[in-house]
Amino acid sequence: MHRLIEKLIKKRRQPLTITSRVSSVTNVFVQAIIPSVKPTEDEVLEALTILGASPDHPECVYCGAPATDWDHLRPFVKGRRPTGYIDEIRNLVPSCSTCNNSKGGQDWETWMQGSAAQSPAKRGVKGIPQRIARLHAFEAWGNVQPIDLAALVGEDVWNAHWNRRDEIEKLMFSAQAEAKKLRSTIRAAMGKTRPGSARTRKGPGGPLTP
Ligand SMILES: [Zn+2]
Repeated sequence: MHRLIEKLIKKRRQPLTITSRVSSVTNVFVQAIIPSVKPTEDEVLEALTILGASPDHPECVYCGAPATDWDHLRPFVKGRRPTGYIDEIRNLVPSCSTCNNSKGGQDWETWMQGSAAQSPAKRGVKGIPQRIARLHAFEAWGNVQPIDLAALVGEDVWNAHWNRRDEIEKLMFSAQAEAKKLRSTIRAAMGKTRPGSARTRKGPGGPLTP
């Protein structure tokens, strides 16, 4: 079977849920408040030198593939709150999208050596200890300390911001519960008019989910 056909029939994605976007909401609540510091070209070149990366063909610091992204070495978000690390050259490293997506919000060193899907260790990347040493040198050069954001803005303003996020999360959960009912209603109504629509995922062919 062609993989495109297989993708449609066997590996068909589950329908999206509203609650699957809760972490995106958290991310924007963090990214909407943290500053982004534009680097100079000299600063970028200095950072690349420390990382041993070529300015003409920068490689992913984690695995050595051609870099396509700038990854935040220290993530912005942990446990649904900002870590205090911001968008600045001293917290940015060239990476490939595979590493960027696999790493997510994890600690970089643990992730590199861990067994997450597509982590450098999992993919058998060569020279992991050397790559880790370079990133330690980069961290020592950057000497980035997390900012105590709550103390900067004041506790009341800070709590109000996060209470809004929490409210939105609650709304997303109740919206999802309602959406599930709507889907069932629509699905049941379709069963009367569409051939094959009575099938479930477990049934023959299984193209529709309840
Ligand atoms: Zn990579």
